[in-house]
Amino acid sequence: MSHKNIPVFIPHLGCPNDCVFCNQRKITEHLSFDEDSVKDGIDEAVKTLLPGDDAEIAFFGGSFTGIDRELMIRLLRLGHTYIERGAVSSLRCSTRPDYIDGEILDILKKYGVKTVELGIQSTDDKVLAACRRGHTAAQSFTAMKMIKDAGFSLIGQMMTGLPGASPGSEIQTAEDICRYADGARIYPVVVFKDTELAFMAEAGAYKPYTLEELVTRTADVKEVFIKHEIPTIRVGLQANEGLTGGDEIACGGYDEAIGERCDSLIYYRRISALLADISSDHAVIAVPRGHISRAAGHKKENKTRLYAQFGIKDIKFIEKDMPPYTAEIIGR
Ligand code: SF4
Repeated sequence: MSHKNIPVFIPHLGCPNDCVFCNQRKITEHLSFDEDSVKDGIDEAVKTLLPGDDAEIAFFGGSFTGIDRELMIRLLRLGHTYIERGAVSSLRCSTRPDYIDGEILDILKKYGVKTVELGIQSTDDKVLAACRRGHTAAQSFTAMKMIKDAGFSLIGQMMTGLPGASPGSEIQTAEDICRYADGARIYPVVVFKDTELAFMAEAGAYKPYTLEELVTRTADVKEVFIKHEIPTIRVGLQANEGLTGGDEIACGGYDEAIGERCDSLIYYRRISALLADISSDHAVIAVPRGHISRAAGHKKENKTRLYAQFGIKDIKFIEKDMPPYTAEIIGR
């Protein structure tokens, strides 16, 4: 049985917040939200489901529980009709910590929401203030606890490379999320054009990261989730989250393959630790099923680096049933 999300993008029209990295406000400035098309979109997606698929309608885009309350309830009610018909098993939404309270959680539960994705971004108040995020770390902790206590599954979303953040604050944020969450999304920062962050970079108040720096910071954070066995369900923005081609980026290193690059770096670390004590110039390395291309590296760069670093002539990868992000030398 495969799990499928049916994403419904709800732009956060009239968001009162002012996060420095946000391009949603700019995107939605000229956007009218067509509520009537939501049902058609879901119907189309439902038609593509296969027997046995476990499907979920996911209200993504802005802060779902911060939109007009009547609109939120109408959308939830619509989603719930698909649960009643057996077309999907549950609903899912993303929101901010300051848009969570007991009443909101009761409403979400009533209409069949099982998973809440929470935009935490950082648990360092200095970072949240530098980003003008408009909520505190304490509010994130309270919201995470309330969501879990109410029986929802929780996905913690965090960012790397934010103004005021350090490698330590990012690791700590991941550790804090691991105390509550069932999964994580990591968003390496994107400096979008015409955002406050782009103006800060231009004025020298924010130093954008190179792609290599951003990959390293993000891989370090992902290692925390791996250590705690909390699945990272996504690294980087999805196509419907503001990136449509790269023209929107003002500066800084970001590319759409950043998730793949992080995984490659994690495998590079695992494999170079293994190769440090072998004397042979050939190695057969087992990696988890489906992970060979990540182990070989983005554009096979791991192989190239490992050959040069260890004087190895050939590395052969084979798949084996083993935990994700592990590697084992099984021949030389
Ligand atoms: S990122 Fe911040 S400013 Fe942008 S839509 Fe979300 S809450 Fe509003």
